[in-house]
Amino acid sequence: MILDIVMYGDPVLRAKCARVDEVTTEIQELADNMMDTMRDAHGVGLAAPQVGVAIQLAIVDVSHDPECISFLRIDGEDKTLDEAMPFVFINPVIDFGEQKETQSEGCLSFPDLRGDIRRPEAVTARLTLLDGQTIQVETDGLLARAIQHETDHLNGILFIDRMSSASKIGLRGRLKRMQKEFSKR
Ligand code: ZN
Repeated sequence: MILDIVMYGDPVLRAKCARVDEVTTEIQELADNMMDTMRDAHGVGLAAPQVGVAIQLAIVDVSHDPECISFLRIDGEDKTLDEAMPFVFINPVIDFGEQKETQSEGCLSFPDLRGDIRRPEAVTARLTLLDGQTIQVETDGLLARAIQHETDHLNGILFIDRMSSASKIGLRGRLKRMQKEFSKR
């Protein structure tokens, strides 16, 4: 089922999401619906607060582009994106690499808006899957970026918070309008 994606201005996007202690059938169903919703919107990631539920659940799938990473290891073993994707996970914990890089980024809660965001290039992430298994993911490129972006959502952090002040100035008017649009509803 395709869900409505929450737009910027809705306070749920600023919520510090609750840890998931038990994967109930409701949470499994929510994850399935989030997958349908992300695919329908042609996104590479979606976090539960973006469909109005403030819990630490997110999904990521960057398998559309096999070239978007230079490596992927799961529990120390080399994997291809096709083998590993999608990731459906709860309660992520990330260790960041030291090297940073700037890439253009977007978000399904900000339609048609993109900006340059500087982030660590590589991460080691501990993701708990819905079956309770925790995996260690080491990767870089778009997958590392997407995991960071979605984990930020679970902490109430949005990509505009990480935008250079120069790119943010250009978007200020549009962000204000989006916020106004929400308060009118
Ligand atoms: Zn986003």
